[in-house]
Amino acid sequence: MTLSPSPSPAPGSKAAAPRISFVSLGCPKALVDSERILTHLRAEGYELSRRHDGADVVIVNTCGFLDSAKAESLSAIGEAMAENGRVIVTGCMGAQPDEIREKYPNLLAVTGPQAYESVVAAVHEAVPPAHDPFLDLIPPQGVKLTPRHYAYLKISEGCNNRCTFCIIPSLRGDLVSRPAAEVLREAEKLVKAGVKELLVVSQDTSAYGLDTRYAPSTWQDREVRARFYDLARELGTLGAWVRLHYVYPYPHVDEVIPLMAEGKILPYLDMPLQHASPSVLRRMRRPGNQERQLDRIRRWREICPDLAIRSTFIVGFPGETEAEFEELLAWIREARLERVGCFTYEPVRGAVANDLGDPIAPELQAERKRRFMETQAAVSARLQKAKVGKRLPVIIDEAGQGLAKGRSKYDAPEIDGAVHVAFRRPVRAGDIVTVKIERADAYDLYGTVA
Ligand code: SF4
Repeated sequence: MTLSPSPSPAPGSKAAAPRISFVSLGCPKALVDSERILTHLRAEGYELSRRHDGADVVIVNTCGFLDSAKAESLSAIGEAMAENGRVIVTGCMGAQPDEIREKYPNLLAVTGPQAYESVVAAVHEAVPPAHDPFLDLIPPQGVKLTPRHYAYLKISEGCNNRCTFCIIPSLRGDLVSRPAAEVLREAEKLVKAGVKELLVVSQDTSAYGLDTRYAPSTWQDREVRARFYDLARELGTLGAWVRLHYVYPYPHVDEVIPLMAEGKILPYLDMPLQHASPSVLRRMRRPGNQERQLDRIRRWREICPDLAIRSTFIVGFPGETEAEFEELLAWIREARLERVGCFTYEPVRGAVANDLGDPIAPELQAERKRRFMETQAAVSARLQKAKVGKRLPVIIDEAGQGLAKGRSKYDAPEIDGAVHVAFRRPVRAGDIVTVKIERADAYDLYGTVA
């Protein structure tokens, strides 16, 4: 994504402000990093350029999770070099500078993930700031790259797990949680600035606070522990939709389900399970209590009947047998998860999993993915159909002439389905309206503002 918030030039500014062009690749966590870097630079008087060739320097925030993401990052760097030539690289791929420098030796700087200060220092060196202290350049909630009505809220960096297919801990380090008060203050500011939906992200949201032994901090004259449940409860008091991403099935996750049933936070759990066969899960070294997962999901649904679970799965993991794959299919038929994504295993360079079993041939991987998606499509169609006739609150993402696109409580932006909404009285992005659902397909819903 090339980012072009493009604020208008400050009225009355004396010297032309230095201009930055920014490319942000990768996951929502990387997007939050991009927002932090841009907030800092905007506060120092830098402006954002829509085009690389009109900028004094280009920053590329890379993703290095999969080889395909690395290829995309390298191509974005190549584009920036061709169009501008003054390029700073940061993000996950920046943790492997040799690979980048080998291809692009003339980069101004390469910094690793979360290295905000190094990126800013590199920008200062490339083009010094022209700060005008009389101008208030920065809105109190910072620079946001998402639409105005939703925002990602990053609660920690890094990860203590060592899933065998993943190199993120070697790129981003171990878990470092932000104090609860700091997260809550940021959330408060966002809500005051008009944000209607907070998307809680991290590498492992349910492990929040483990590294600080759940240290308390003071927010609104009271102590709040840096603990998954406590943070979710407090976020639920801010009056915005609160959606939890990257939650792993640790036993204490059970505690937040009543908050969902009471309507304090959204009845939505993004829980990347990656597989369901116990032997594959062991080889993946996945965190959380993976055994008896179906029993727990059943219990959660008894407490919160409209809970929506989103998950992702990997098929064709090294050594995955037909029997293990069949176990996964049987599991997803029974679990009836609302939203599911499926990836074929990609051998990331440096991942332990590459040596754990025979690689599965790409054709067999593709066939398993097709069978998986067919199975889930049937599950999804049944669940979607059951929503026809209901009245659901929908947050509007985009509004056009008589038609708008939004999401129900069961859909996160970018990754889940949409609700296509007809309306008579005008609606705007960020409005939360009640929609009567009239039709459904496998992923989207269609209805009219009630
Ligand atoms: S939980 Fe596993 S997959 Fe997720 S970041 Fe940590 S090591 Fe990687």
